[in-house]
Amino acid sequence: MSIVRASLTPFRLPMQWPLETARGVTRVREGLLVELRGRGELRGYGEAMPLPGFGLESLAESRAALAAALPALLGLDAKDLETNLALAERATGRAPSARAALDSAFHDLAARSRNISVCELLAPCSREPVAVSALLAAKTPREVASAARQAADAGYRTLKLKIAATSVDRDVARVERMRDALGDDCALRLDANGGWEEATAREALRRLAPSLPEFVEQPVAARAIESLARLRSDSPVPVAADEALCHAGGAPAVLAHHAADLLILKPAALGGLRAAQRLADEARRAGVHVVVTGFLDSAIGDAAALQLAAALRSSEHAAGLGGQQLFADDLATIAEPQEGLRALPEAPGLGVEPDPLRLERLASGPAQIFAA
Ligand SMILES: [Mg+2]
Repeated sequence: MSIVRASLTPFRLPMQWPLETARGVTRVREGLLVELRGRGELRGYGEAMPLPGFGLESLAESRAALAAALPALLGLDAKDLETNLALAERATGRAPSARAALDSAFHDLAARSRNISVCELLAPCSREPVAVSALLAAKTPREVASAARQAADAGYRTLKLKIAATSVDRDVARVERMRDALGDDCALRLDANGGWEEATAREALRRLAPSLPEFVEQPVAARAIESLARLRSDSPVPVAADEALCHAGGAPAVLAHHAADLLILKPAALGGLRAAQRLADEARRAGVHVVVTGFLDSAIGDAAALQLAAALRSSEHAAGLGGQQLFADDLATIAEPQEGLRALPEAPGLGVEPDPLRLERLASGPAQIFAA
């Protein structure tokens, strides 16, 4: 079953609400959709959506890498995942977002050609729904309390809040209100996105500890791995590495320095499902937990991450894939979680594909098409 057509479509998704993190405010996400076609109805999809601050290539670099790689994919056997992934790795060099797009499209194609899900392609996969966390878009302590209550009422058992965008005093107040609003039966996950210096992070971790966070993601800058290791060694709160994993050499350094209790695995930022799965294996051997998490992905990237979360299934930590409508418009519909749980789609492959009308609406330029 050979690949007969490849296309690359730029798109632009407006956020439903501006997302404020320690790195600034995100109002729109831009990406590139890769579609690979075999004969008949066989399709495979992936996307490149680099975000600033994660050590990834720029969108223009993703585009250049993909436009150079796609013609060479024509004629490849859709079922030969290993050969195709090796080619994607060579073709995308230092462009992990571009590599993630090809990795997703190859997994989707290979799974669909066997009529199984990507989860089943990755690992022995149960079809149990995946527990996910809700991301709260709330600034003031009062807004945080009300958003937390709303998410808990919708059935989420893990709630996530971005911190370190303003002062530690304000974050402590926000997190205290969040805990007060929730009582003890919800896990409360915090993400500093590298926004603190080491001394500030130490103070913040100490002051946030009484609110019993599940963990704090990336308290210090991505490259400050020794600083992260020092913080973790005496932190009253579990510490997770996220941005630190996305720079070249970051993941091995985090594991070697025992710099984190958990790794945040974002296939879109790590170069794809295969790279994320490999890192999960290394982490498990080192006794470190992993949490599969989204990267402000479209419905396509979200579907890939959900398949990985189902394959790696954690009983202790909800996946960071809230299934919430992050965007005012998206390439496909994301099924609503029920009671904080997301079911795997029934369809094979990623189980989700772009809606042609929506893609037309959201495209930010013409598609580049390569055909045999
Ligand atoms: Mg994070």
